[in-house]
Amino acid sequence: MFIPVLSCVPSVPSNSRVLMLLAQLEKMTGDVMIRDVETTQGEHEVMSKGSSGMEVILSSLESSRDVQTTLNILNILTELLTVGRGRRMGVFVSKGGTGTLFQLLNIATKELPSSEELMLQVHALLAKVGPKDRKFGVKARLSGALNVTMTFIKQNLQNPKVLLPCLQVLRVYCTNSVNAVSLGKNGAVELLFKIVAPYSKKISSLPKVALDALGSVLKSKTNARRAVDGGFVLVLLSLYVDWHRNDTRHRHMLIRKGLLVCLRNVINIKLGRKAFLDADGMKILYNTSTECLPVRTLDPLVNTSSLIMRKCFPKNRLPLPTIRSSFNYQLPHVPAAGPVAQLYSLSPGVDDVVDESDDNDETEADTDTENEENEKDDGNTGLDQDLGRVSLEEGGASIRHILGEICARRGGGGASTWGSDCGSEGAEDEPGEGAVLEVPDTALLLPLHDPDLYVEMVKGTKSVPQYAEVAYPDYFGHVAPTFREPLLERVYGVQRSKIFQDIERLIHPNDIVDKVVYDLDVPTCPVIENNGESLRFNSQFESGNLRKAVQVRKHEYDLILNSDINTNHYHQWFYFEVSNMRVGTLYRFNIINCEKSNSQSNYGMQVLMYSVQEAIRGRPCWVRTGSDICYYKNHFARSSLSTGGVKGKSYFTLTFSASFSHKDDVCYFAYHYPYTYSTLKMHLRKLEALRTPQIYLRQDVLCETLGGNVCPLITITAMPGSSSTDNIYQLRNRPLIFLSARVHPGETNASWVMKGTMEFLMGSSLLAVSLREAFIFKIVPMLNPDGVINGNHRCSLSGEDLNRQWQSPHPELHPTIYHTKNLLQYLAHIQRAPLVFCDYHGHSRKKNVFMYGCSLKETVWQSNISASSTELQEDLGYRTLPKILSQIAPAFSLSSCSFVVERSKESTARVVVWREMGVQRSYTMESTLCGCDQGKYKSLQIGTRELEEMGAQFCVALLRLKRITGLFNHQHLVDMETEIMGSICTTTYVLEEDEPDFLEAVDYSAESNDDDIEPENEPGTDVPENTDQLSD
Ligand SMILES: [Zn+2]
Repeated sequence: MFIPVLSCVPSVPSNSRVLMLLAQLEKMTGDVMIRDVETTQGEHEVMSKGSSGMEVILSSLESSRDVQTTLNILNILTELLTVGRGRRMGVFVSKGGTGTLFQLLNIATKELPSSEELMLQVHALLAKVGPKDRKFGVKARLSGALNVTMTFIKQNLQNPKVLLPCLQVLRVYCTNSVNAVSLGKNGAVELLFKIVAPYSKKISSLPKVALDALGSVLKSKTNARRAVDGGFVLVLLSLYVDWHRNDTRHRHMLIRKGLLVCLRNVINIKLGRKAFLDADGMKILYNTSTECLPVRTLDPLVNTSSLIMRKCFPKNRLPLPTIRSSFNYQLPHVPAAGPVAQLYSLSPGVDDVVDESDDNDETEADTDTENEENEKDDGNTGLDQDLGRVSLEEGGASIRHILGEICARRGGGGASTWGSDCGSEGAEDEPGEGAVLEVPDTALLLPLHDPDLYVEMVKGTKSVPQYAEVAYPDYFGHVAPTFREPLLERVYGVQRSKIFQDIERLIHPNDIVDKVVYDLDVPTCPVIENNGESLRFNSQFESGNLRKAVQVRKHEYDLILNSDINTNHYHQWFYFEVSNMRVGTLYRFNIINCEKSNSQSNYGMQVLMYSVQEAIRGRPCWVRTGSDICYYKNHFARSSLSTGGVKGKSYFTLTFSASFSHKDDVCYFAYHYPYTYSTLKMHLRKLEALRTPQIYLRQDVLCETLGGNVCPLITITAMPGSSSTDNIYQLRNRPLIFLSARVHPGETNASWVMKGTMEFLMGSSLLAVSLREAFIFKIVPMLNPDGVINGNHRCSLSGEDLNRQWQSPHPELHPTIYHTKNLLQYLAHIQRAPLVFCDYHGHSRKKNVFMYGCSLKETVWQSNISASSTELQEDLGYRTLPKILSQIAPAFSLSSCSFVVERSKESTARVVVWREMGVQRSYTMESTLCGCDQGKYKSLQIGTRELEEMGAQFCVALLRLKRITGLFNHQHLVDMETEIMGSICTTTYVLEEDEPDFLEAVDYSAESNDDDIEPENEPGTDVPENTDQLSD
């Protein structure tokens, strides 16, 4: 009868065995079987082959009212599901097998005479089914099985044989968060703690399974709270130490890990962290981890311990009087609804440091309120700030960097540095040098550089802090080194060892020096230090940014960056001077108030260092430097003021170590190759000298900035061959190319690319000649001079990101944008809208050089317009230029380009010029701050040579754009490109993060990667913060 059914399933393995089992079943409940088979045979075609058999079994299980029969069927089922691997289990689940088992469980407790064996058998089967059934948890809850299992466990605490399958089932129940809460209410936390035991020689799998279940239960915050109230944090720690001590051969790593996972989940709540600290958890985990460090296989323990310690590290406020910039700049007019008005209207106390908000507890009043100095803002125009500083007159408005005065340069800053030792060089130095200080002849090496001219330019540069000093690198100039600078390979465990050093601050507080050695907020800054043991810092020069330096240990410094003026965050750019160093000593520097949630510093990017002694020896260059570099979330709490109201965020640390090779050196560190406003002015002046009668070069003042600096506008093209009508006509009809850069001050690479562009355009090569004859170039090389001068990272003096003001720039607050936009509007009005508009930027989180363009079709936020995106015919001309660039520029990567216009970018230059001026080829060109992962420069960090080359190649690409089309005429060009480039029409969404998953958890709230033990392990669900998404 029922053999034909089975004979249809030749593919099922162990067929004969199945056959035998079913035959056995038939004997038990023959008639049921027959009826079932008859009804199912008609639907034979639609039913999966094995399923009818399965349904038969299930229905017989449901109808069985006899313990022994039920047990027999269960035995058969168990065997079937064991031999049938995943496939048969799938059928079982899809046919409602799980529900049948739960039903059976209920019957077993209520109707059937209580049978331990039956309960055990059902649980054993459920333990197998659970992990395969996604809805297992819900089914269990709805059928009331949670309590049945719990009760059964309680009754069998001393019976390991019964306990094991039940705990296995419980473990699966708990992966459902609603179940975890419900089980917690019924005493699961306390129950499981009874099973988790100290180390013993005879070890079953019970503690491991119980810990897994407990770990899941404790994910619920109410359960975590229950564990804290029950004193279980101390229990977990004691158990961990016990296992750590006794498991000397590391055979039970999973149990130890299980204990840590429980702890990790408990400390997700504030009370848990408190209990952990009260129980001396930091020291316990620190010590055990230190002992585990040498054994590589114990890494998961060290990593989880480290995660717990990082999260429990008491939150500190940054040691600053206010997080607002130390520089005061009074705006001529403060729009009532603008960010600056908001910034200054905030009441004190909003900036409280709170522990990460984790539950609905009202956060206790923090006594440690910040003293926002409101009086500073009340009608005071920043006079006190000026009074507190060395006045301009005192320092002498003259620039003290002229050679003869170098030694006296730092007269106001206490002991002079290398200058004072002129002539008394250390014995290890090369003989003869030092007697006469000679400035490297960078003018010979660098055609656009001239130290004297630089100083001349500085005199006209107006800074908010009224700088009177010049940094040596800007004075001497930078020559790109000839050696390759590969991306730094990350040392295994580097972040961990740095974090352990940080934790040691708490464990061994007596080792901490905690001495402020530099502080912009103190009137006598730089803080003078005479014992000679501390490094000396300085950042008071154009583009400088370092607010405070705190010596933490003998050779370790915490550094704090200054916010952009009129804001309370946006810091990332740094540029500062270090002196009084010991040769050969490795110093650790920690920039402790970084904002972004990840950094290219974790993927090979080093910082830049410039040594004056090296410069004097003929090597005036910024070089990539720093070892042990990593970037991770630290224990300094971010004020909700700087996060747009989000509480409980932390800062990140960028740490690097560096040593110095010269005695009495003055060294500089920077985020990227500095390029000051004065440097731009010098370069522009030197470009004048390259002018020939064939070149038309004109420098205009676009406008004056808020800070009183001039924003230059450059025009470059070819002089007409003659004054003939034809020639004049040709000149008038040359397409315009409009370029801009450096709206974001921290993106200095954009300036280097722009330097490459301008230098190439002024060159004598045939390509340059053709370019000038083909196009008229309009260039605004620095859209944000004030930001650059004052060491801002992103904003202008108005405290705003200028590349978010293009829709309606304010003439007074955003003059450079207002006037650039006006010019573009005018050009569009007279039918001379540029053929190409490109705004040069730098990208801190990606490698290579790439472009953002504007595609109507790919524009997400316009997708609700009537035409569906598939019927929308789009001109693909905007794709040509990036495509050409990817062919000729080794650093350029087409696959990183994106042509989507996001809503958040609607007020950027690229989008406004595209939409309002109708410029189809409107771009942002982003250059990496780090390096390349493709092309000729793969695995290398980017340098100024490559950046300048990129600027030149951009021009070459324009020429090829012209050649491809062979036409000047706008419309035809567009049509032809569409034909040529049509083949590359694919949507170009670019993922926010393009780096591979990182081994070490940058963020301590993220799950560590080795956590595959837990079934509900989800990949990082960290929501990127606003500042992370900033680009363009
Ligand atoms: Zn930018």
